[in-house]
Amino acid sequence: MTLTRYIVPKSLNEAMDLLFHNQASAVVLAGGQTLVQEIKKGIINPKVLIDIQNLEELKYIQQVDNELIIGAGVTHSEIANSLLIKEVFPSLSKAAKLIADTQIRNKATMGGTLAYGDSFGDYWGLLYATDASIKVKTLSGERIVPVTQWLSGRYKVYLNLSELVTGVKIPIPSTSTFHKVPLFHVENMNFTIIENSANETKIAICGINDKPLLITLFGNEVSLYETFTEKIESFRNNNENLKSEEYDYRFHLAKVVCFQMLKGEDPFE
Ligand SMILES: Cc1cc2nc3c(=O)[nH]c(=O)nc-3n(C[C@H](O)[C@H](O)[C@H](O)COP(=O)(O)OP(=O)(O)OC[C@H]3O[C@@H](n4cnc5c(N)ncnc54)[C@H](O)[C@@H]3O)c2cc1C
Repeated sequence: MTLTRYIVPKSLNEAMDLLFHNQASAVVLAGGQTLVQEIKKGIINPKVLIDIQNLEELKYIQQVDNELIIGAGVTHSEIANSLLIKEVFPSLSKAAKLIADTQIRNKATMGGTLAYGDSFGDYWGLLYATDASIKVKTLSGERIVPVTQWLSGRYKVYLNLSELVTGVKIPIPSTSTFHKVPLFHVENMNFTIIENSANETKIAICGINDKPLLITLFGNEVSLYETFTEKIESFRNNNENLKSEEYDYRFHLAKVVCFQMLKGEDPFE
């Protein structure tokens, strides 16, 4: 198939209409940071490109009650610089700031990230640990999909050809910490810890499985780490594909970093 049409819809409804009428041959262009590479390399060969990057309807950051709602068209730079996000969910600003480089952050979007579904990316642990939900526009209305159902594996998301991601709803946690560990020549890892109540701690680790590993702990500080170690070791023992030397390193790193984070310390200081 050769790319023959590039269309810039003026509204979300027009974009939906275009998708519906060109389903098998069309793709949506958001920030274009991964899509354009895939087209250049021939990994995908769309006939129609529907450019949604300037749709104002997808560019919003709002707080509604205890939820942060971010439109699909918001870029990583806008997330990193949003005063609202800095105030209510600083770990999300930190994660956005650590993505790739300025050029990519200025173009790549929340919607593109959710649709692309690279579960080793920097938002997924935060989305898992907060029980976020993805907003999807369908032909008949809207679907709200819990993030754990959205992602079924790396690059595998619950999105049909005629649907558009419109945003994400994130319950605002009472406290959160996020750390990214850049690794040379291999995939990075990132770690999120969320506390929702005095007794519940959620730890999400990206970079050891095709979906973020989510561990929920109840209890006091001393027993937390022991329970965490037991759970992470049991997860590894039950997954034959995680037994190589590279995973020895990744699991060791996870234990060391999370131990420091659970103590409230910065593992890199
Ligand atoms: C060199 C490089 C380094 C990167 N480093 C990091 C990193 O360190 N951390 C990290 O988290 N991420 C990283 N990313 C990924 C990046 O953050 C984005 O997730 C990615 O570029 C997709 O976002 P986009 O807006 O560019 O989407 P596009 O490239 O435009 O689209 C990606 C896919 O999603 C589809 N799509 C886009 N928007 C929608 C929508 N609203 N509804 C339905 N489908 C849609 C497109 O059709 C396409 O299939 C990197 C990407 C690159 C190219």
